[in-house]
Amino acid sequence: MNKKKGIAILGSTGSIGTQALEVIVAYPDYFDLQVITAHKNVDLLIEQALKFRPNSVVISDENQYKKLKDALWNEEIHVYCGEDALCQVVESTEVDTVLTALVGYAGLRPTISAINAKKSIALANKETLVVAGALITELAKERGVNIYPVDSEHSAIFQCLTGEFHNPIEKIYLTASGGPFRGYSVDQLSKVSLEQALKHPNWSMGAKITIDSATLMNKGLEVIEAKWLFDLKSEQIDVIVHPQSIVHSLVQFEDGSMKAQMGLPDMKLAIQYALTYPARLKTNFPRFNFMDYPSLTFEQADRKVFKNLDLAYRVMDMQGTAACALNAANEVAVAAFLENKISFLAISELNEHVVEEMTNIISPKYDDFVAIDLAAREITLQKISSL
Ligand code: NAD
Ligand code: MG
Repeated sequence: MNKKKGIAILGSTGSIGTQALEVIVAYPDYFDLQVITAHKNVDLLIEQALKFRPNSVVISDENQYKKLKDALWNEEIHVYCGEDALCQVVESTEVDTVLTALVGYAGLRPTISAINAKKSIALANKETLVVAGALITELAKERGVNIYPVDSEHSAIFQCLTGEFHNPIEKIYLTASGGPFRGYSVDQLSKVSLEQALKHPNWSMGAKITIDSATLMNKGLEVIEAKWLFDLKSEQIDVIVHPQSIVHSLVQFEDGSMKAQMGLPDMKLAIQYALTYPARLKTNFPRFNFMDYPSLTFEQADRKVFKNLDLAYRVMDMQGTAACALNAANEVAVAAFLENKISFLAISELNEHVVEEMTNIISPKYDDFVAIDLAAREITLQKISSL
């Protein structure tokens, strides 16, 4: 038996994080849980620490540190707090793979630390690639680090590419469920509520990505994520709406042949593959039954109604820090929508406004991303207060 794989889960209390823990405990001879982290949910983090007994835990919100420390003082578990600690724990020699299951821009800095420390990355945190795809992919290349996708569409593409060696991709199709408002007009979207937007038809996920799925921003972010993961041009990436979420995405090769990866919608499969590649470990996940899905359907995504998807293509072509600005605006706008402060349609309006307002720095360094993220957040907040 080879040495067990040391895993750090950044964001262990979230939707991806909790499912990753289920995967890890199912294979005690294969994985060794080293690190778990959370932002604010200290109670669940304590519960996870006592149950799964990692080497270290980190709470990034410093206000929760005392509670965490008090709860674990008598255990052989290291306890840390703050953003810097998040960057340090991933560098531990016992960690082989870092699963980035935290949400938003906060993933950027710890991912850079992990790559610098030559850890494999299982990437769920798509925002990191959206914000700084060029920087991250160049750094990974320089350090000889592999980035394994966790996002189901990108995992599907990755699985389709296995065994294809150097066969070029002609194009890819990312499938989209269409979210709860598939087929809606702009007029209908102007009347939707937060409650409706939070009800995703096929997936149970964190609040931010659930809203992103309803606005199709999620698919836009995934288009940008795919560009960086698979080194594609924007015209090589297409989106197709597939309401059943069974075909997880497709690759078309230069001979015209297409490969798709299919299965029931279950993120555990994609998480597990990112952690065990190239092996496929036996699971008892429910199996697909054709008779439950007598027809799989496909339709065009409406980029005129769901403007965020169109905007994602635009910022991809703008390059530089445009996608970073879009991501920041979107994070602030979605947070405001989740607090019932703005309407559903205001999210894409704010995103568009901020992308137009912001300077686009063409060959950005890390500090430029930090500055643009901050400035874009401020402009979004200002605009929200003037609405
Ligand atoms: P979630 O909201 O359920 O969980 C987020 C986790 O990140 C929690 O553990 C939280 O404590 C932590 N976190 C939040 N803010 C943080 C901060 N500022 N600093 C440090 N940690 C912070 O989110 P999720 O649905 O699990 O999504 C996580 C990531 O995975 C996102 O980037 C999302 O786009 C991506 N993703 C999720 C799914 C899914 O099915 N949920 C699918 C594909 C991709
Ligand atoms: Mg996805």
